[in-house]
Order: sequence, then structure tokens, then C-alpha cells
Amino acid sequence: MLNVSTLCSGYGAITALTDLNLVVPARGFVALIGSNGAGKSTALNTISGLHPARSGSVTLDGEEILGKKAHQVVKRGMAIVPEGRMVVAPLTVEENLRLAKAVGRNHDTFDERLAQVYDLFPRLAERRKQHAGLMSGGEQQMLALGRALMTDPKVLLLDEPSMGLAPAIVDVVFAAIERIRELDLAILLVEQNATLALAMADYAYVLERGRLVIEGKPSDLADSPEVMDAYLG
Ligand code: ATP
Repeated sequence: MLNVSTLCSGYGAITALTDLNLVVPARGFVALIGSNGAGKSTALNTISGLHPARSGSVTLDGEEILGKKAHQVVKRGMAIVPEGRMVVAPLTVEENLRLAKAVGRNHDTFDERLAQVYDLFPRLAERRKQHAGLMSGGEQQMLALGRALMTDPKVLLLDEPSMGLAPAIVDVVFAAIERIRELDLAILLVEQNATLALAMADYAYVLERGRLVIEGKPSDLADSPEVMDAYLG
């Protein structure tokens, strides 16, 4: 359903991504791993339209989305949880979640989804009136995940959810992602922590210096030198 083909991207004279080809099937959980600076964030940001592509194609259910504005991409069913989470600090938890109403796919089910997000993340329900900027890193990550879910995505793009979190909190966030996976959506996860990503994904791609070097089922990748590099990266 998400089909990325020969996608190229960069910054000025820097080429950060060359000929990326990947597929995320409906309800699939796909990981994109690689060491620091491999181009993972560039890949997600270019797929989601936050950063302009140089060439290539990104289709969602057959429709080209490259070149569309970020809010149009969300309307078509793609949501991204960017690196650094980007919650709106002065707004409350609930106000952050309600922001999704303007851009989401289906207004009629909004209240239902709000209840679903609070059910997935009881911590957010407890703190619904708290200013987002006062929440811990793990809570902000949950809020960013919840806000993305509020748009009713067909595919959810996650950029390093483990970043900057203490190991115990990483476990909490990934347990939440494990529950999200039971919803009717596909996930593309970018992670530097290959162990974590491979433990969850049903298919994985390894990126090195902006190019895919290997792909396969996690069980087939775990022993490859490229993945060892990513582990060490
Ligand atoms: P990280 O885990 O550190 O975020 P990454 O795999 O996500 O790494 P990217 O952030 O996509 O990698 O970076 C890929 C390359 O593009 C790197 O060489 C990086 O220095 C470069 N790059 C990223 N953002 C910019 C930018 N805004 N301007 C110039 N170069 C950039």
C-alpha cells in the first residue's frame, strides 16, 4: 500500500538518499535501520513530504503523494511522528490531540478515536489538562504517537521513538507501539537501535550512507555484517 520507488533526496550539495525502494504492505510492520547519519530521517521526511524529494515516487494505495502538501498527505492517510516529537508545549495534552481534527481523515469518528487514544495511553488521560511542555520525554513521545493516531492513518511513520529516552521508558513506549500495531494500520519505523527494531518488525531494510544495502526478514538479517555495523553504529 505504501510504495517508495527510486526516491532521491538531499540538502544543497549533499546527497542524503539515493534510489530508495521500499514497500510497506497494509498492516505490515517495516523497519528502516542504519547508523547515525545513514539517511533514515531524510527518508521518512521525504516520504511524508516534510522535505522535498529530488526524484522518485511515493504512492499510497496507488496514488502519487510526492509533491503534495503535508496536510494533504495526512488527509490521504499518512501520519508521521517526527524525531524530537514536536508536541506544542504551551497547549494541554488534549489540545494537542485536538489539533489533529483539522487535518485528519474522518471527522465523524474523532471522539471515538480520542477515547481509543486515552485507552491506549492511560497516562495521557490522567494528564489531559497538563501542558505538554511539562511532560516527561516518554510522555511527550506518547502524546506525539497519540496525535498521529488521531488523524486515523493508514500508515504511521515513526522516527526514532527511542531517542533520548531512558531504557525503562523506551520499554513503555515500545509496548505502546506493540499495541498500536493491533489497530488496522501499517507502520514504518526508523530506528538506530536495530535490536529493538528487528524484534518488532516483520520486514527490515538497512540503510548505509543513503543507500539500501540489505533487506529481508529480521530472522535473516540478524547475523549479516551490514546489520552488525548498524548495531555498532
Ligand atoms: P540520525 O540517526 O543521526 O538522525 P539519520 O540516519 O536519520 O541519522 P539523516 O539525519 O537523514 O540521517 O542525515 C543523512 C545525511 O544528511 C547526513 O550526512 C546529514 O549530515 C545530512 N543532513 C541531514 N539534515 C541536513 C540538513 N538539514 N542540512 C544539511 N545536511 C543534512
